[in-house]
Amino acid sequence: MHPSLKGKKALIVGVANERSLAWAIAQQLHQGGAELAFTYQGETLERRVRPLAESVKSTFVEPMNVQDDSNMDSVMSKFRDRFGTMDILVHAVAFANREDLDGRFVDTSRAGFLLSMDISAYSLVALAKRAEPLMEAGGSILTLSYYGAHKVMPNYNVMGVSKAALEATVRYLANDLGPKKIRVNAVSAGPIKTLAAAGIRNFRDILAKSEERTPMKENIDQDDVGALGAFLCSPLSKHITGSTMYVDSGAHIMA
Ligand code: NAD
Repeated sequence: MHPSLKGKKALIVGVANERSLAWAIAQQLHQGGAELAFTYQGETLERRVRPLAESVKSTFVEPMNVQDDSNMDSVMSKFRDRFGTMDILVHAVAFANREDLDGRFVDTSRAGFLLSMDISAYSLVALAKRAEPLMEAGGSILTLSYYGAHKVMPNYNVMGVSKAALEATVRYLANDLGPKKIRVNAVSAGPIKTLAAAGIRNFRDILAKSEERTPMKENIDQDDVGALGAFLCSPLSKHITGSTMYVDSGAHIMA
């Protein structure tokens, strides 16, 4: 519970269903008293996202494709009309073609590389640029990463490269936006079964191996991501920016 989130206005990008890490963060922000707005990608997901939004008393539910600049402009303008200002932006978006999450990284096509980088890394820049003018009293921008940004993980391939770019993006954005008291951080989460994770071949093996590797001998769940995410969105972390913080039962310390 984060009482310091009371009245904060948050835009949550990346809820697909009840397993989504964005949803785990949204729930904890709601418990702390934040007002939430959601975007979803495509009509199929709208059917999943709308009831979730209603369950946390949110009536702002808009379609948004992070590859479409005018679509992002229009969502931000609607957010301003409804809420006036923004305090929190949660970016929990990633995508790569299935064939690029399998086999050899060296076989990644130019188009597949650019697609993954666009949706999984550049979209944070595009959204931060549009959030900046709304964050008049400072704010917190949060994204989601994975340790495959630093170490080679089987089948993570182009997504590992995109996450490396994402983590560097967090640092550069934190420097640009710091004077406006806008903080930018990433949560690097251990593996969790979600819709996006289902696109990674042998994800079940990754889960099993990860559990074995962690000092704690157990995997994390959505609530762990929600708790760290809410902390990084709250004034409790008011001097933390440019960081990638791990919630992975300690997997990242192991050789
Ligand atoms: P998810 O499938 O629930 O969420 C991914 C979201 O990205 C979906 O809502 C999808 O609609 C959205 N998305 C994809 N392309 C988009 C586009 N062009 N425009 C707008 N939205 C788009 O899966 P998740 O695991 O909750 O993923 C959220 C984030 O967490 C991702 O960045 C993922 O890489 C990261 N992450 C996941 C894990 C894990 O094991 N699940 C671990 C570490 C980090």
